[in-house]
Amino acid sequence: MTAAIRYRIDLADAANHRYRVTLTVPAPARVQLFSLPVWIPGSYMVREFGRHLSGLRAQQGRADVVLTQLDKTTWRVDTTGRGALTLSYDAYAFDNSVRTAFLDDSRGFFNPTSLCLRVHGQEGVPHEVRLASLPSGWDVATAMPALAETRNGFVSADYDELVDHPFELGRFWRGEFEAGGVPHEFVVAGAWPSFDGERLLADAKRICAAQIHFWHGRGKPPFERYVFMLNTAEDGYGGLEHRASTALLANRRDLPRRGQAAASDGYVTLLGLISHEYFHTWNVKRLKPAEFIELDYGQENYTRLLWFFEGFTSYYDDLMLRRAGLIDSARYLKLIGRTVSGVRSTPGQKVQSVAEASFDAWVKYYRSDENTPNSTISYYTKGSLVALLLDLHLRRAGESLDALMRRLWKACPSGALTEERVLSEVAELGGAALAESLKAWVHGRDDLPLDAALAAAGIKRSEDKAPWSAALGLKLSEGPVTGVQVKSVLSGSAAAAAGVSPGDELLAIDGWRIRRFDDAQQWVAEGQPFELVLVRQQRLRTLTVKPLAAPALERTLSLAPDPQAPAAALALRRAWLGD
Ligand SMILES: [Zn+2]
Repeated sequence: MTAAIRYRIDLADAANHRYRVTLTVPAPARVQLFSLPVWIPGSYMVREFGRHLSGLRAQQGRADVVLTQLDKTTWRVDTTGRGALTLSYDAYAFDNSVRTAFLDDSRGFFNPTSLCLRVHGQEGVPHEVRLASLPSGWDVATAMPALAETRNGFVSADYDELVDHPFELGRFWRGEFEAGGVPHEFVVAGAWPSFDGERLLADAKRICAAQIHFWHGRGKPPFERYVFMLNTAEDGYGGLEHRASTALLANRRDLPRRGQAAASDGYVTLLGLISHEYFHTWNVKRLKPAEFIELDYGQENYTRLLWFFEGFTSYYDDLMLRRAGLIDSARYLKLIGRTVSGVRSTPGQKVQSVAEASFDAWVKYYRSDENTPNSTISYYTKGSLVALLLDLHLRRAGESLDALMRRLWKACPSGALTEERVLSEVAELGGAALAESLKAWVHGRDDLPLDAALAAAGIKRSEDKAPWSAALGLKLSEGPVTGVQVKSVLSGSAAAAAGVSPGDELLAIDGWRIRRFDDAQQWVAEGQPFELVLVRQQRLRTLTVKPLAAPALERTLSLAPDPQAPAAALALRRAWLGD
């Protein structure tokens, strides 16, 4: 067996946000290629991590050997064929997201996709990581197995595993719990002193226990250990799933505080994020699109199935909070109502199906701009509604989405999932007609037929007036300093018909200066046209906005349990939501 690839990652230059990496290849090829991934699995966008590398140098023994850059992310070394090859380079790390790498004198974080060059042809050998020059008092969190008898040394079976283990470094809060017989570690960086760590641990444990039970009953999950790495900041939100860990970013304000009884909306959102990423440990990290069985780190990896892997995961994230007893049904239904309203008021759902949106994630969802709401639909939100609809239909047939997920888990031992397999299992569980319906929901561009399905599950709906600006098709950012700025103009809306444009600064309505757009409802009669004064490219303009009928924009939907529902509907709801 070929000897292990070794990465020494030195933090001596933390103040300048630079990791110094020394990569040793004990048995290099005569012509040895190296490359850095251009994307990180789970975040479907080409990010060109190689642009942050600098100062690459190759040596054999003490002699420099020729190193040639072949493209934006690939290097070639012509070796002498004798002895170990050493590459050294700097990796600049100053991005606070969960997808890349960060280093300063108070905290470090990295995904090996940002730091560890792939040694072509040797991806299958063990890969070791040794951390050096850690500031005193710093701790290390990672799910990568420790290297025996080495302080701050770690080892992965191969390159795929290496890049699936992020590292959190610094002086962070640390707690532990057990779920499903497996140790779980939870680290939190950046928390305020009032942070209630015990509560976070207790709630996370309930989520993990519910999910392990969901997939395995009383059995064990498919990992030996799991690590949550939560970084809290003044602002920010995100998570990235890995095989035995997750990196999370949240607003520190959303952490639970000691003495605080109720769960704030922000904390429920954080618990939903924890639940979401943990569910991915099964759904996308192990059960995965057939196209992802062998990943290509050098370019986009396309799949039409993100509606399943992200959408169904989004359906289960909040549902698991309900099942773990962390939110009640009313709060759960409120979250669903918000998702339904959001999807209905997005014109892009008439432009792309969730299958198309999945395929285009690389250039649409992940590269959102002012036109995104008009050109695509989120496979997270609409995908979660497809899951909801499928679940309610399966339950009416005496089955459930839970049963489908567990069937797929068993039916795909290699993990490779295709749409055909999903459809055939749905047909077996719920009948061929339901499989046809699912196909139409996934590939169609119509509103999902949710109303009847929700009514049959004992859920009543009510409609409220949407905010005036939203009803007119405007997405705004408003502030005392920035004024009223147009972020997006929705297709088919009154604002679009009047010629309002993203980037416009809105100044006055019918002669009155506005600081908040919706204030103008005080002086504009309902349903009447009005004059809008705005600034575009430094010049004043006046447009006339004529309200027009746009039902999807004008009303938001609320869902709640219906105590008057027929007995069959109440029974279905009880089976679904537990009350
Ligand atoms: Zn996800």
